[in-house]
Amino acid sequence: MSGLYLHIPFCKQACSYCDFYFVTRHKRKDEFVEQLINEIESHRNSRFTQEPVQTIYFGGGTPSLLSPAQVGRILETIADVFSLDLKEVTLEMNPDDVNAEYLRGLRSAGITRASMGVQSFDEELLKFMHRAHNSTEARSCMEALAETGFDSYTVDLIYGNPGQTSEMLQKDLDILSSYDPPHVSAYTLTIEPKTRLGKQLELGRLLPAEDEVVAAQFSQVEEALLRTGINRYEVSNFAKPGAEAVHNSAYWSHENYLGLGPGAHSFWWEEDGTSARRWSNKPDLSDYLNNKTEFKKYDEDLLDLRTLAEERIMLGLRTVAGIDFKTLLEKYSWKPNEKTETYLHNLQKNGKARVEDGGIRLTGEGLKISDAIILDLITLNE
Ligand code: SF4
Repeated sequence: MSGLYLHIPFCKQACSYCDFYFVTRHKRKDEFVEQLINEIESHRNSRFTQEPVQTIYFGGGTPSLLSPAQVGRILETIADVFSLDLKEVTLEMNPDDVNAEYLRGLRSAGITRASMGVQSFDEELLKFMHRAHNSTEARSCMEALAETGFDSYTVDLIYGNPGQTSEMLQKDLDILSSYDPPHVSAYTLTIEPKTRLGKQLELGRLLPAEDEVVAAQFSQVEEALLRTGINRYEVSNFAKPGAEAVHNSAYWSHENYLGLGPGAHSFWWEEDGTSARRWSNKPDLSDYLNNKTEFKKYDEDLLDLRTLAEERIMLGLRTVAGIDFKTLLEKYSWKPNEKTETYLHNLQKNGKARVEDGGIRLTGEGLKISDAIILDLITLNE
């Protein structure tokens, strides 16, 4: 089983925190769709088409800048080139692009899951994030989802913003809960160096939220969503039972996936299972469009089992299910040494982890400091 990721690199404007690859000029959008179709075609009869595709994910950028007809053509080409055993076809969308008619069009084109980039319902926070939508549009896209019966969807929320109080966050959570979403992705704001916020931070014009405030909001999000029957299943992801994202879960368990479009990443195991390759397409729209014959791999890495084991530990420990030592041993030849075992034992004693059923999973307290625990685990087992 494998997944496909399609990167749609167009955005209306640059959000202040964003360091993804995108362009704000849309002149070449139609040309891009043709080239994406060419890229899909270029994989016909390749080794990437040998496994049935389980998930398709339109990410970006802003995939909702595509029309339903364009999405439909892309999906038809995929169905023609790859063998499919689809469980989920997701498209990321922004509230200002969406109305009931558009959503109906996407459903007819084959999209089964919407990923709505709401981020907040607060007018001032949306302005701070430099989002293209306002608070009214954040609410109306939720109504459009309900109206069109899009029952599989997720909503993105960002918390830990400078100046965001627990009351402001609670208001966002209350509004969100009133729509009873099946899945929520809630991220702490991270300030990356090359973004608008990164520059403001560098110039001393921005004071990030304090760690204690962010930690309190981490728990506040979990508690509020739990009251509506949505459980945390990964550090940033929450779902009602059975509504967990299939595509993202496949990333965490190192399933093969192929990325298409400028800047898209791919991951594929070598046939003997002793290493895997990760590469990306060049994050450059002009280069992508001008390339008429072949789609070259860019930034390719061959990952050995040790690196892969560390990644798997890192990704697995961010999930509530945790990691299982049998998989680590059988698939990655990794087993805990004495120092690691003592460390795990202490984590358990301190209520940060549970070591049981041949695996380890972090408790709510452990998940709060998962990055530090993961780093310790990896360095101790060197
Ligand atoms: S819409 Fe998404 S990809 Fe585009 S700038 Fe904003 S956060 Fe980044």
